[in-house]
Amino acid sequence: MSVTMAYFLNSLVNNDSRYLMCFQLFLERSSEHQCMKDFIHQQLPHILDSVGDGKSDLNVIGVGSGAGEIDLEMLSVLHQKHPGLMVDMEVVDPSSLQLHSYRDLVSKKPDLDYVKFTWNEMTSSEFEERWQLKRSTKKADFIHMIQMLYYVKDPGATISFFQSLLNKNGKLLIILVSGESGWGKLWQSYKDQLCCTDISQCVTTGDIKNLLSTKGVNFHSYELPSQMDISECFIEGDEKGELLLDFLTEVQDFSKTASPELKDGVLDLLRHPDCSVQSNGKVIFNNTLEAIVIEQLN
Ligand code: SAH
Repeated sequence: MSVTMAYFLNSLVNNDSRYLMCFQLFLERSSEHQCMKDFIHQQLPHILDSVGDGKSDLNVIGVGSGAGEIDLEMLSVLHQKHPGLMVDMEVVDPSSLQLHSYRDLVSKKPDLDYVKFTWNEMTSSEFEERWQLKRSTKKADFIHMIQMLYYVKDPGATISFFQSLLNKNGKLLIILVSGESGWGKLWQSYKDQLCCTDISQCVTTGDIKNLLSTKGVNFHSYELPSQMDISECFIEGDEKGELLLDFLTEVQDFSKTASPELKDGVLDLLRHPDCSVQSNGKVIFNNTLEAIVIEQLN
């Protein structure tokens, strides 16, 4: 008789404080936010050119805004483009820890008088429900969802809802990992074994572009090259390596709870040329992101 060991993988998303620890370390080990800031300063000004045409104020919605660092960077570009306009900013994020950090950041910035923030501590689908209950006819000029579509049940429906809120000339910005990134390759092989919940899924911009094309929605896309140093993942028992592995697999305590076969397979793939390059003794994971911009033409 053979004994089968059961391995229970718990999604990292179920543990807000561990998720935040992993995410913070990921930001330190990667050029994630730097590549976004480059995009925000080089491309976003052109993208936001026409959003304020003929208006006295702008409505912006940030979905899954996290601690707000990237949001504030975008707000400053929007303000430079349209200095006379007031901004009504709806922030949507279910994490009270994240919203707390965001409010803290705002309170330390003296030059945000042109923005009125509304804090919505809820998921995007709860926001959608409330919006429909209120029968709100308010429209938005700029909506962004950055690194958050992994956490909704139906990314296509979420995009359609927010797209329906766009004003004429309004823009919807989506940023996710690129299908060509190490993440995309990791998920091609291990999606079924890792993403075991309906609150976290392995969606890339490749998937979103296919979905939009099928629906006949026009969009522009921009590649954001980015890297992540994952060397510590290969040091047995290294605490930071374990946090990074949890983040990469979205599994809580991956090293301790995954089967030896799964762990070996994932570690092998992570340092395979499909996912990473080796440079100066470091393993550098391909963290390339992609931005997709949908414009409301009428
Ligand atoms: N946009 C930020 C944060 C990305 S982390 C940045 O790029 O730095 C993902 C964020 O999505 C987290 O703050 C998390 O709380 C939020 N999130 C998770 N599920 C969500 C949902 N269903 N709707 C909206 N936001 C969600």
